[in-house]
Amino acid sequence: MRKINTDQFRRGTRSTPREINRKIVLNLVREHQPLSRADLARRMQVARGALTTLVEDLVSAGVLCEGETADTPRGRKPTMLYVRTRDRFVVAVDVRFRRTSVMLSDFEARELALETFSTPAEPEALVAELVPRIRRLLRTHGVAECEGIGLVVPGMVDRRSGRILNSPPLGWKNVELRSMLADATGLRVFIENSPTACALAHLWLSPSHNVETDNFVYVAVSDGVGAGVVVDGELLRGHGETAGEFGHIPLSLDGPPCMCGLRGCWEAYTSNIATRARYLGLEASMPGNRETLREVGFTMADLIARARTGDEAAKRALEETGRYLGLGVANVITAFSPAQIVIGGEITRAWDLIGGVVEKAARQRALTDAAAGTPIIPAHGVEFPRLRGATALLVARHFAAPQVA
Ligand SMILES: [Zn+2]
Repeated sequence: MRKINTDQFRRGTRSTPREINRKIVLNLVREHQPLSRADLARRMQVARGALTTLVEDLVSAGVLCEGETADTPRGRKPTMLYVRTRDRFVVAVDVRFRRTSVMLSDFEARELALETFSTPAEPEALVAELVPRIRRLLRTHGVAECEGIGLVVPGMVDRRSGRILNSPPLGWKNVELRSMLADATGLRVFIENSPTACALAHLWLSPSHNVETDNFVYVAVSDGVGAGVVVDGELLRGHGETAGEFGHIPLSLDGPPCMCGLRGCWEAYTSNIATRARYLGLEASMPGNRETLREVGFTMADLIARARTGDEAAKRALEETGRYLGLGVANVITAFSPAQIVIGGEITRAWDLIGGVVEKAARQRALTDAAAGTPIIPAHGVEFPRLRGATALLVARHFAAPQVA
């Protein structure tokens, strides 16, 4: 039961039921495509004729498209409906501590082109580097109409203003990145915190709908650590839009210093920077060491490879991260009672080495049997989770339920 906000509501009009049904059609096709009109009507629980105008409108608006006919046992060959995705383009940008990636993708987050470069220290330099690259990508691939740019950063973002409020890994505070990039490219730009965007991608770009995908917490382990919390199919944002910053909730008040300036944050134990620093014997939060870590070409993939070849110190560094990861996951489970926890990031490539350690640590602090049984699932098979998240910033807007009342 959601309370109606009497200061800010959307009054129902004559077109409201149509708008709702349009979104239901769009989502049914998205999840079950290819779908015939007869099957769509069955799933909508209406007579087929009741859908004719709605479907034709969506086809002529270029939102749905008609694909090949399908063979049926009775010999009729219905024309199948698809959501139009392949010729709708998005520029996805993932700004990270060391590297920034730019991907041209379609509406299903398929990679059409990808390039990366060293992340500049200043936001103005980032925009100066991004703009010609984006223009060239669009030109080279003959994209006349681009839906916009989705950009993700490790840090807190005010989604409404597009301002980066605080990004400890990048060392940026109150940066008007969206307006800078939108003015320079003339495209629509959406900016989001990377774990939040990863959760959106899990919610909107996963092939099928089930109860687990409506209630989950996506924990992104990257340069920073953060969580995207989805409750009943909706992302939890909070009053200041920065909910889910579990990375900066302490595991221990006397713990190691974090890049945010506080001590003992979950991130200070579990981020890729922390794991690499642990192995290399560096303190991740020391400014000089931060530069060293940025410059040194030693990646999480290298660390995992060493652990696999019997480097005991590499194995210990990963397992220690796994234990702290599990302890923090227990906090997330206690706070939100999700149907599942999804873990994303490079660390998941070592899941066979640390998955057991993560689960054991999480179970140790579970308060109920249900909490202890919460599945902790690595987001395998997703090659670029954050770029997928950046794409989802534009895609989700097309499928989300209309806000009513
Ligand atoms: Zn912190």
